[in-house]
Amino acid sequence: MNVQKKIERFPKIDLHCHLDGSVRPETILEIALKEDIHVPTTKIEAFKQHTQVAEDCSSLKEYLSKFALTSDVMQKSEYIYRITDELLEDLSNENVKYIEIRFAPFLHMEKGMTFEEAVESVLKAMEEGKEKYGILSKLILICMRRHSPEVSVQIVEKGKAYLGKGVVAIDLAGNEHDFPPELHKKAFQLAKEYGFHRTVHAGETGIPKNIITAVEELKAERIGHGIHAYLNEEILEFVKEKKIPLEMCISSNVQTKAVEGFEDHPIKKYLDEGIAVTINTDNITVSNTTLAKEYEILMNKQGFTLEDIKQTIINGINASFASNEEKEELTGIFKEEFFKL
Ligand SMILES: [Zn+2]
Repeated sequence: MNVQKKIERFPKIDLHCHLDGSVRPETILEIALKEDIHVPTTKIEAFKQHTQVAEDCSSLKEYLSKFALTSDVMQKSEYIYRITDELLEDLSNENVKYIEIRFAPFLHMEKGMTFEEAVESVLKAMEEGKEKYGILSKLILICMRRHSPEVSVQIVEKGKAYLGKGVVAIDLAGNEHDFPPELHKKAFQLAKEYGFHRTVHAGETGIPKNIITAVEELKAERIGHGIHAYLNEEILEFVKEKKIPLEMCISSNVQTKAVEGFEDHPIKKYLDEGIAVTINTDNITVSNTTLAKEYEILMNKQGFTLEDIKQTIINGINASFASNEEKEELTGIFKEEFFKL
């Protein structure tokens, strides 16, 4: 079996995947037309350009512009359910066994949907996805940096009813430059108290010290991206010493210009130094990627071996927010599938 085939058949895990960045373009177009939402074109091939970044994407701003249409079509619970279901279906075709999907409920409450309706639509599709697609999935609720700290507290207060029912964690995402993590400290401390896991996007766009703040003040157990830890030896040591798993998303990092090119990404250095790096998609549609594509890029541009890829997958199971029982079960399934290859 050639390497590409092996990668395709690998059992996979994704810990960092945004729901609104992973919607099928066909679905966005269909819902937009149904809901009378203005679309730039109704020809699907041309339409796709408005939902995915081009190869030469030059900035985070350009990257984020691709989310405009998606958030417009994710304002009804039936659509959120459908989008989650389709994502799980697509993932099952890639042999993904476990995924943590994340979304920011408050971004979907602009036209009257309640927090509960938004969260429950995702959870319903996830629960059904276990049987339907053989994928175990969990939900991470995102607090947006630009929203007020009170909104983040509300997410934790409202979200706690869903702990043990599919919701496992909270996250902090969005503009890292203007909104440092400490603004949302209260929500994260409360989350810890209630039993949520915590992950925080930090060190994605060049402010490495946010990594330390996220861990020390927001009690983050994992860091989203954390690319720029290498810019500061002390911070890199901190990540190693505290054994903080990093959720890395290579294509996204190159597209947003967090790093110049695939060769410049520090992921291999981190892996070789024993940091628990994991490989994730970030936004399947916007980044126009899949886990298999990410693995292939790492093998071609960063010298990853198949063993390295496997190591990152095992790291993913260990760093996941699944229960210990579920982790054990996943480890068994993965070992068996790797053995068959
Ligand atoms: Zn992200």
